[in-house]
Amino acid sequence: MAYDDQNIFAKILRGELPAIKVYEDDQVLAFMDIMPQADGHTLVIPKTPAVTLLDLPAEAAAYTIQIVQKIAKAMEKALNLEGIVLMQFSGAAAGQTVPHVHFHLIPTNVQHLRRHAVELGDQEKIKELAEKIKAAL
Ligand code: 5GP
Repeated sequence: MAYDDQNIFAKILRGELPAIKVYEDDQVLAFMDIMPQADGHTLVIPKTPAVTLLDLPAEAAAYTIQIVQKIAKAMEKALNLEGIVLMQFSGAAAGQTVPHVHFHLIPTNVQHLRRHAVELGDQEKIKELAEKIKAAL
């Protein structure tokens, strides 16, 4: 699928839009979701420009999932979790709203997810949670 470099996550990657970051290296960025489906909802994105998981080169996918695991472990420790929901939507038909591939890490039970990309979270609370996750990395 053709990649639109004006999408929100591309702008965050270029530093044109702000984000509450928890982890960054040369290949991956992790940051807090602004409309969390549970407190601590974190997004992990490869820097490779790809719309869906299906477009992402296998090496980038393999590296990104390692970082997804690393962030999940930090979240487990920082937020005292017993379970984390990992979600990934590929394609608008599946519910994807931002056309840059990303993984959702959501500290909740799947039955208790708040609605997807609907309500802005409390930014101060989100920043506090991000600090805890960063400290556990
Ligand atoms: P998707 O629907 O593409 O799987 O998920 C996109 C996610 O990005 C949603 O959970 C939504 O809340 C989040 N989101 C949308 N716009 C922004 C933004 O500007 N900043 C951040 N940090 N998250 C966003």
